[in-house]
Amino acid sequence: MDIKSEEDIRILRENALIVSRTLAEVAKYIEPGIKTIELDRIAEDFLVEEGAIPGFKGYNGFPNTLCISINDEIVHGIPGERVLKNGDIVSIDCGSIKNGFYGDSAYTFAVGDIAPEVLDLLRRTRESLFLAIEMAVSGKRVGDISAAVQEYIESFEYSIVRELVGHGIGRHLHEKPDIPNYGKKGSGVKLQEGLVICIEPMINLGTKNILQAKDGWTIRTADRLPSAHFELTVVVRKEKADVLSTFQYIEEVLRSNRI
Ligand code: MG
Ligand code: MG
Repeated sequence: MDIKSEEDIRILRENALIVSRTLAEVAKYIEPGIKTIELDRIAEDFLVEEGAIPGFKGYNGFPNTLCISINDEIVHGIPGERVLKNGDIVSIDCGSIKNGFYGDSAYTFAVGDIAPEVLDLLRRTRESLFLAIEMAVSGKRVGDISAAVQEYIESFEYSIVRELVGHGIGRHLHEKPDIPNYGKKGSGVKLQEGLVICIEPMINLGTKNILQAKDGWTIRTADRLPSAHFELTVVVRKEKADVLSTFQYIEEVLRSNRI
């Protein structure tokens, strides 16, 4: 477990804000009729303007800037010619690298009007992330974060993806410790001040079981019901986690789109 210096954290915050602003830029274009590859180009251009490079492109051979995962796709969808339709949900995960450190954030968007039960899934997945963030304080354990997501999510009839988890972040995209979205209070690694982690619940409307698509990347639900994914980066602190990335820019765009 790598504890970051204040200088490391300054650079991680810069990356976290770049991916937050990139997702907000992409949010302006999310509407029925747009191709996912167009969103990918918007994100890549924006990252480059911010002096960063795409964090996912080339990572283990991933071909694009964004992971774009629609409806039953959970994560790692590859942008392409697919067109967003009214009623879809789309998880957009964005990575950056600037000054040797990574940024990594994800948000699931509604495309036009979506079914009420799917809107609830998005809202509650987002809420579970903020409950988890409250546990990211020194002296707590990874299991406290995991249990916060699990208890909230399982109070509804949703299921939690087991195979994919949150992670430490720094000079590598995925560092120790793993941050599962299920687990027992008081278990696991003790959290120390200066640990920087990505918390990212992936929550399914139906079964927890997943499948990998033939493209070798896309992970989807086994029952083809929708899945939601939200991700923020936080620094473990004494009283309260310091949240490095933000949904504020995205949600300002979403509010102004609605007016
Ligand atoms: Mg991510
Ligand atoms: Mg991540």
